[in-house]
Amino acid sequence: MSLITVGTMAFDALETPFGKVDRIIGGSATYVAWAASNFYQPIKQVSIVGGDFPQEEFDQLAARGVVFDGVEVVKEGKSFFWSGRYHLDMNTRDSLVTELNVLEQFNPQLPESYQDCEYLMLGNLVPAVQQSVIRQLRNRPKLIVMDTMNFWMDVALADLKETLKLVDVLVVNDAEARQLSEEFSLVKAAKKIMAMGPRFLVVKKGEHGALLFHEDRVFSAPAMPLEVVFDPTGAGDTFAGGFIGHLARTGDISFDNMKTAIIVGSAMASFCVEKFGPERMKEISHNDIARRMQQFSELVNFETATV
Ligand code: AMP
Repeated sequence: MSLITVGTMAFDALETPFGKVDRIIGGSATYVAWAASNFYQPIKQVSIVGGDFPQEEFDQLAARGVVFDGVEVVKEGKSFFWSGRYHLDMNTRDSLVTELNVLEQFNPQLPESYQDCEYLMLGNLVPAVQQSVIRQLRNRPKLIVMDTMNFWMDVALADLKETLKLVDVLVVNDAEARQLSEEFSLVKAAKKIMAMGPRFLVVKKGEHGALLFHEDRVFSAPAMPLEVVFDPTGAGDTFAGGFIGHLARTGDISFDNMKTAIIVGSAMASFCVEKFGPERMKEISHNDIARRMQQFSELVNFETATV
């Protein structure tokens, strides 16, 4: 059995109030794989890169149990490139450049070895490509989690809505939930989005944590209050990787276990923001993760007073 992750493997240029980098490794699938591989292996990647994507990055991920049979390398092409600038609050950002490059021609053909997929993480990517991966799997995975972003709502909304009908969990940020539902109240937004297909909705709220909706239930998780937030890029994908990694490891997709998965995702995201790009994800150990999970638990534990 395996966990498939679909998404971009990319170069990013970033500007935050703390610094600027011109060309570092990024991409939704890159971050998902770094986070999820702490909990579950193998991770079978589906993506496309140009000949410019460094072999060293593949090697580092391969050492973490990430498999690349489903990653197309277009030798003469250029990898997806994205550049973003963060506002002072670090919660909001502007996309400055989105160059699809090889992504424009991406039509993944799933290798036979990927047919054992039990958990499918559709990282942020062209919605039609996300959908094509679902349709190529002969047996429906036990759980399909999908991430997306405002860019695809702007340029491919119809395809996005078709893909939504096929997934179990949608993970978006608060602004995206509002854009997709055209509702300001996140409770109303959640109802509308769950009527579009996903039985579960996770709404990420940056430094304010995340909400999990399912039927008429809701769970609210905090974010770790951090002294240093250096670069939030990839925090959303890292969250998603931790979330599905925990579910895959435990094999339990109940609402209660999803609450824990949200805390695992939040813990992973809290590491991601501590350095530029995926650097911090490469350093952390199981002990670091366990310690941060404990801090999360202490953060929200309190006695209920009698009133
Ligand atoms: P996050 O901060 O979690 O939203 O993820 C940022 C990562 O997503 C960056 O490393 C980008 O390379 C990648 N990215 C940015 N825009 C897109 C897009 N439209 N589709 C897929 N991946 C994207």
